[in-house]
Amino acid sequence: MNEQLKHDLINLEHLLETVKLQGLDFLGQLSERPTSTKPNDQVNTTLNEIGIGGLEALKIFNEKFEKIIVGSSGPRYWGFVTGGSTPASLIGDWLTSIYDQNTQSTKGQGDISAIIEIETIKLLLDLFNLPNDFVGGFVTGATLSNFTCLAAARQWIGKEKGIDVAKNGISGNINILSATPHSSSIKSLSMLGIGSNNFIKIKVEEGNRECMDIEDLENKTKELNGEPFILISSAGTVNTTDYDDFKAITKLKEKHNFWWHIDGAFGAFAVCSPKHKHLMTCWENADSITLDCHKWLNVPYESAVFLLKEKHKLLQTETFQNPNAAYLGNLLDNFSYLNFLPENSRRLKALPVWFSLLAYGKKGYQDIVENSIEMANRLGQCIEISTGFELLAPVRLNNVCFTLKGEENQNKVSAFLTNLNDTEKVFMTPTVYNGKKGIRASFVNWRTTKQDIDIAINEMNKLATTE
Ligand SMILES: *Cc1c(COP(=O)(O)O)cnc(C)c1O
Repeated sequence: MNEQLKHDLINLEHLLETVKLQGLDFLGQLSERPTSTKPNDQVNTTLNEIGIGGLEALKIFNEKFEKIIVGSSGPRYWGFVTGGSTPASLIGDWLTSIYDQNTQSTKGQGDISAIIEIETIKLLLDLFNLPNDFVGGFVTGATLSNFTCLAAARQWIGKEKGIDVAKNGISGNINILSATPHSSSIKSLSMLGIGSNNFIKIKVEEGNRECMDIEDLENKTKELNGEPFILISSAGTVNTTDYDDFKAITKLKEKHNFWWHIDGAFGAFAVCSPKHKHLMTCWENADSITLDCHKWLNVPYESAVFLLKEKHKLLQTETFQNPNAAYLGNLLDNFSYLNFLPENSRRLKALPVWFSLLAYGKKGYQDIVENSIEMANRLGQCIEISTGFELLAPVRLNNVCFTLKGEENQNKVSAFLTNLNDTEKVFMTPTVYNGKKGIRASFVNWRTTKQDIDIAINEMNKLATTE
């Protein structure tokens, strides 16, 4: 055995103990960690010949990088839609690395990791109060989940026209309808060979909304003259957390032939709260659903789930099978994740989710979701009564979309946000909403408290009065 490896193996306990203490140190002061830094982007380009061992590598890492790692998993990182990690999800994540399973088949080499994944999907269905006729799996993020679902949808539309797209490629037009799709769905259209320009935009409802105008959807559906199409709908747009009307879409599905996809990356978590679950009424009628776990479920990156109706399992398997690998066996009899999603080899992605779900249950997630919504509303109220800021849209759930008050201040929004983020106390991201430059604060982290809102508002007001 190589000398460095032998040395590290003998000292494994000390190595892991050192890392554990460092981790505790980091997590213990996470809320004081700067939410942004200006990293020195000089990168090392030479690798030493004989290696330095784990402990020395840790030392170099600490000197070079540790100090500038930002508290993006902490309570005041409100950019994008950024979750944190619950304690139990860390248990699962550590064990995932320790066991180092390759999660593929339930029957393969007695690998139970696929069974854990299947069980975790079932637990998620229970959390979301979804029926048992959904199957699913884990991918790296909602982007890949949208891709996976839309790939199955593409196969479905091909079949409707007598083409096996997975085998023979796309021929002819694939009709996609959507109102306010997340950018990753559009990116998926380009990855799928459909083309990011090739979707029909449905009007949004009037009155400062991002959800689709159902009448316009119906009109555009009629214009297709019965041709099958794919509908990409939103359960939570990123700017204003607006929801498409799933009840109305369910009704349309009785009359028209389409594949219904819901991107519910974070917004679907509204069902965890009795007060807000009405937003998701009828979503169980969708053909496929995207859910992110590294956002509101608060497990470490990279974790997301795709769900699709069990009746579509064959379409899914046709799309993601490894066509030339005879040893993989009969596709449906011999279920393997290998033939069910984009990646072949995968770590046991489900385990952090499994742990977190068991540890905190439905009540835990109801509390996390309701706390985030409360925090968003609190920030929203502070903005409404402020002299320097105004909301660009009402706070519908957990996202706050606002800007500097007054048309004349539009040209100051970018500089204000830069200055705010430079305080390193809070982090938000820019957006454009209804033609106006704005700022987004998104709440999904389980650690955020009222004190964090106070800290942020204080920094915002300080900057607004000095400008
Ligand atoms: C975050 C997000 C995505 C993309 O998710 P990743 O996990 O970053 O890949 C897709 N759709 C919606 C609605 C999102 O909020």
